[in-house]
Amino acid sequence: MLFLKKIGILFEDFENMKTKIIFFIGPPGSGKGTQAEILSGKFSFYHLETSKILESKIMDAKKGEYIQIEGKTYFFDKEREKWKNGLILSPPFVAYLIKEKVRELAEDKRKIVFSGSPRSIYEAEELLDILLQFYLKDEMLVFNININVEESVTRNSKRRICQLVRHSILYNEETISLTKCPLDGSQLLKREGLDDPETIKKRFEEYEKQTFPVIDFFKNQGIRIEKINGSYSPVVVFENIISILEK
Ligand SMILES: [Zn+2]
Repeated sequence: MLFLKKIGILFEDFENMKTKIIFFIGPPGSGKGTQAEILSGKFSFYHLETSKILESKIMDAKKGEYIQIEGKTYFFDKEREKWKNGLILSPPFVAYLIKEKVRELAEDKRKIVFSGSPRSIYEAEELLDILLQFYLKDEMLVFNININVEESVTRNSKRRICQLVRHSILYNEETISLTKCPLDGSQLLKREGLDDPETIKKRFEEYEKQTFPVIDFFKNQGIRIEKINGSYSPVVVFENIISILEK
């Protein structure tokens, strides 16, 4: 992204940092995907983008396709409908797809930054269960990025994604005049259905109800939580994140 060039900090000290698993938890439009993307670009973290994994699995699924988890059947068609309406997908369905990916990465001993997982306590339990087979609690860190509902609606209703890789381009003064993706040059589009103000409000409420309690869950598990104000520009937010990682 454009502002990456402005961040000229040296990072060799960070290669030995103890944090191996980072979670960004925040409402839609809080910039968690952007921050995770910068982190993965600066360090050797794999950026696990839940929405990207879900979107591609759901959109590519054939009519009638399903998976079975603990005797229950989950149809992709049904999950796709929820996705389009801004509702949170069935937790076991999401957890299954994400765990599949995590296991693959963990077996390669990768550092992982999550933006968008876990979305529910159920998912957090499932995720932690698999992560603890490979990593220590001391190696995990949760960033809770906050913005309010008005900001969430404004930012998301103007968000665009690129045609090629679905890079998400948040609305701000640096991206306002872009027509092509700064990373691959493909056309920038609005996401169908997902970014109408009403849908975003619904997503924000779902976040507060289902995802926000995950922070306390992690805290009770003894995992470090750090609060971040997401209403600043991405560069400032990133600097705040770096100063916490240095601690
Ligand atoms: Zn792109």
